[in-house]
Amino acid sequence: MDTQMLIGANFENGTEAEENILNPKTGETITHMPEASMEQIDRAVAAAEKAFATWSRTTPATRSGYLLKIADRIEAEADAFAALEALNCGKPVNAVKNDEIPAIVDCYRFFAGAVRCVPGNAAGEYLPGFTSMIRRDPVGIVASIAPWNYPLMMMAWKIAPAIAGGNTVLFKPSEQTPLTALKMAKILADVLPEGVVNVVLGRGESVGNALINHAKVNMISITGDVATGKKVLQAAAKSVKRTHLELGGKAPVIVFDDADIDAVVKGVRTFGYYNAGQDCTAACRIYAAPKIHDKLVADLSAAVSTIKYASDDDSENEIGPLISQRQRDRVASFVERASTMNHMEIVTGGKPHEGNGFFYQPTVIAGALQTDEIVRREVFGPVVSVTRFTDVDEAVAWANDSDYGLASSVWTRDVSRAMECAARLQYGCTWINTHFMLCNEMPHGGLKQSGYGKDMSLYALEDYTAVRHVMIAH
Ligand code: NAD
Repeated sequence: MDTQMLIGANFENGTEAEENILNPKTGETITHMPEASMEQIDRAVAAAEKAFATWSRTTPATRSGYLLKIADRIEAEADAFAALEALNCGKPVNAVKNDEIPAIVDCYRFFAGAVRCVPGNAAGEYLPGFTSMIRRDPVGIVASIAPWNYPLMMMAWKIAPAIAGGNTVLFKPSEQTPLTALKMAKILADVLPEGVVNVVLGRGESVGNALINHAKVNMISITGDVATGKKVLQAAAKSVKRTHLELGGKAPVIVFDDADIDAVVKGVRTFGYYNAGQDCTAACRIYAAPKIHDKLVADLSAAVSTIKYASDDDSENEIGPLISQRQRDRVASFVERASTMNHMEIVTGGKPHEGNGFFYQPTVIAGALQTDEIVRREVFGPVVSVTRFTDVDEAVAWANDSDYGLASSVWTRDVSRAMECAARLQYGCTWINTHFMLCNEMPHGGLKQSGYGKDMSLYALEDYTAVRHVMIAH
């Protein structure tokens, strides 16, 4: 197991406080990892600064070649990466191997292609006697900070567009899930020139805080909690750094009476509980039309009660545990508060799983009202609420009545109604008759307090580069 940080060309241990890295399936300690000191962070920044001078001047084709090599190396070690991610996050290993790793490999390959065909305005004589052209140049040194729910994928979403765009990176994984990032560090050190990507370890309030406040960091890219995003904005304001924020979500799922109920049930069973609901796009907030409501609640709770988890035979597991005891306690407290309200009913689940690890029963809560905490706040666990609506205007108004604006879905056989809802929903993504499906060609990112950074797609490459105007007098 790789346990060392990457600073320039050096692999080294942190020198500060140790963090316990846990196996969420058992609660046992896998290893301890000390976090980076300020001196180590400064050296990582200096390595990124030195590398920037040459990396930023490489051609897109050269950078593309490096990204393709990174993709090949991950693919060649797919099993080892999947095993490590499963160990550190508690995910079923097959889910990592079959769902995440191919998408991660494809992310590096997508940006390898995308950087070679960045579109732009035509150069021309917009003033007589002067030729103007647009350039897209790197921003500089990017501090990239990732959460614990998809550690290797968030690393890909952040590193691939950043280095494709000619930037150099200081990457900090979540203190709870550093293992695959450290394995990646070995590959990055093998493939890339020294200092292009540096990997430092540590907690948010110490190492993360040092990164976002560092005078030489030009851009902060963070996926995390809304509260963390606000701290990033405060830090960025001091020196006007660029920011790329991917914050939380509370995805509404609007189900009309004419929806294919089997497809809805299958979809929510999968997309509401995938990764134990620790997903900012999780289909967690259902609004059901009056005629379909009761059957949906009955069929969904029956389906959700069959979700497999906590089996000793991991090949049977569909979802894993929550990441930590703290996260499970948080999820449990949401459900406990909901269960004290008479108008809500826990129709399936509703309790921590008895036994080892941080598992929580997949849960459906019926009868939730728009004003209820369970409808308004991000739970980040395997908990889905169902709320009955009366008409389309009410459904759209309730869906939009949220601090978040990341993802949403509409389920109906009526194409016109689907398109009208999609146009009215204030979300970075609206799926129709599906949910949660991502592809590297299309952007992922939010509105409102879900942030505004775009991951994947050419829009991410835009976020990680600066538009410049060059004008020549004839
Ligand atoms: P978090 O905000 O606690 O931590 C995210 C990262 O930020 C970690 O690496 C952490 O160390 C770091 N961090 C924390 N405080 C910091 C500070 N003061 N300065 C600098 N860095 C700091 O979030 P989490 O609990 O790891 O992840 C779950 C959250 O992430 C959820 O709210 C979820 O919705 C969100 N999320 C969003 C997306 C998206 O695409 N929008 C994707 C995944 C997760």
